[in-house]
Amino acid sequence: MSTTDTNTTAPTQNRAPDFIRQAIEEDIASGRYGGRVATRFPPEPNGYLHIGHAKALCIDFGMAARYGGTCNLRFDDTNPEKEDVEYVDAIMEDIHWLGYDWGDRLYYASDYFGRLYDFAEQLIKAGKAYVCDLTADEVRGHRGTLTEAGINSRFRERSIEENLDLFRRMRAGEFEEGSRTLRAKIDMASPNFIMRDPVMYRIVKTPHHRTGTTWCIYPMYDFAHGQSDAIERITHSLCSLEYEIHRPLYEWFIRELGLYPTRQIEFARLNLTHTVLSKRYLRRLVDEGIVSGWDDPRMPTLCGMRRRGYTPEAIHAFLDRIGVAKTDSVVDFSLLEHCVRDDLNKRAARVMAVLNPLKVVIDNYPDEAVEQLEAVNNPEDASAGTRMVPFSKVLYIEQDDFREVPPPKYYRLHPGNEVRLRYAYYIKCTHVVKDADGAVVEVHCTYDPATRGGQSPDNRKVKSTIHWVSARHALDAEVRLYDKLFTAENPSFEREGGDFTASLNPRSLVTVNGAKVEPSLAGAKAEQRYQFERVGYFCADSMESKPGALVFNRTVSLKDTWAKIAQKG
Ligand code: ATP
Ligand code: MG
Repeated sequence: MSTTDTNTTAPTQNRAPDFIRQAIEEDIASGRYGGRVATRFPPEPNGYLHIGHAKALCIDFGMAARYGGTCNLRFDDTNPEKEDVEYVDAIMEDIHWLGYDWGDRLYYASDYFGRLYDFAEQLIKAGKAYVCDLTADEVRGHRGTLTEAGINSRFRERSIEENLDLFRRMRAGEFEEGSRTLRAKIDMASPNFIMRDPVMYRIVKTPHHRTGTTWCIYPMYDFAHGQSDAIERITHSLCSLEYEIHRPLYEWFIRELGLYPTRQIEFARLNLTHTVLSKRYLRRLVDEGIVSGWDDPRMPTLCGMRRRGYTPEAIHAFLDRIGVAKTDSVVDFSLLEHCVRDDLNKRAARVMAVLNPLKVVIDNYPDEAVEQLEAVNNPEDASAGTRMVPFSKVLYIEQDDFREVPPPKYYRLHPGNEVRLRYAYYIKCTHVVKDADGAVVEVHCTYDPATRGGQSPDNRKVKSTIHWVSARHALDAEVRLYDKLFTAENPSFEREGGDFTASLNPRSLVTVNGAKVEPSLAGAKAEQRYQFERVGYFCADSMESKPGALVFNRTVSLKDTWAKIAQKG
């Protein structure tokens, strides 16, 4: 039941302007901001960036670039209890990885704590904010419902003097956490809950990762975000749809404080099937040890995707395909995989790797001989050249490429059948050797010396070409076959009252020990990407692969399921 954004075929630049471009172009034409375009990307440093953030980044930096403007990076770090420098550093690294740069425009909402405090006093002095002593429970009880107005706090009519005095004492640390808040005096009967006297400041006695113990009161996100935009003279504050209902509040603060009138424009969040794109859930996956960390290759985080072998180019191609919409939708994960495959097809070197080895002995091949055979690195890219692959008497092929008793239409190796070894020779199976349990442990063949390079001089046809590695030259490798993290298209555990484990895919990671790979992989560098011929796209694991102990991650399989889905419509 997943749907994809419409307009998924043309790259962005060829498409009619989307609603964000239209809005910005209107403002440029009318001279609203003197023709300026200034955007920002405002992550909260409480987790790692995921593919949804990549969409926001692409819009924020993309719009600035398109109109010759600027894009700031601003950390909205108003919550010391959940934030950490670890996240700040990782976020910067991921943004650079995607190819964006904020130049010298790096800001932190925490740099504005002094000014935000002054704004709060300004509102108190204007009679627009008050210190409220209701407990969190009481505040909830006063909020009202969708159909009923809320109830005014009994502290709402405090005098300006009393409010100023209490607020200053909150700042001085005289009161306990949770005992008082500063609230905007707006309208407890507003149909928009956000406008029912929202909290502006709360007491939190946790040190902040940048300001230490300077503050024991912190602005709420909603009080910091809009004013930070205004301080930076942001013209267009682009954000996801859930902030739409906050817009009237942001505008109220800006109006009452007489600040720079940033225009907020909302777009639909990116949702993807078979995964979750919410930092809250991603953190649980990490904390509960369901994945190995934020950069586990199964995570939809940018660092996870990078470790998995996705390229920034593939992610950009994907974001181009899905475009920018105003209504929420769920994009099929297979579209992202399609884009990854498409990109890797052009750039990944082909190599031969055997995941489940079966020994093949070529009885008429000289015992000690070794030949170097030429293999094409990338049929899609002539400039990638060729390499030499060693061939000898004992080889490994995939167990799947041999059947002692072939099923109908099985054209790969079986007794009496001839196949082509990629870049090498035609071989014909003569007999097998079995172990005590009857399992085939060796396949014996003869080769035809006249078919060197995989061509037969008499044009003899074979119906199948299989890959192989030379046993004495092959390197051992561990191969991790990654798949979707959740079996459910929309793992909505919360809605259904279930928990994480309910739709986790038990086969999201299958580890293959004892794979055999061709010797050219000895120097595989972190994140270097390959196509293992006939098997899939893989990359060397950036954390654990080393010379002598190679580890490869499956980036994506060769089978494109997107084409089928796209056809169904
Ligand atoms: P989460 O809900 O995962 O915690 P968030 O919205 O709280 O995400 P922020 O760090 O506040 O995360 O987000 C920074 C920017 O990224 C915001 O402008 C937000 O609108 C945008 N963003 C976050 N998630 C998505 C998404 N899935 N699709 C598009 N934009 C997103
Ligand atoms: Mg947020």
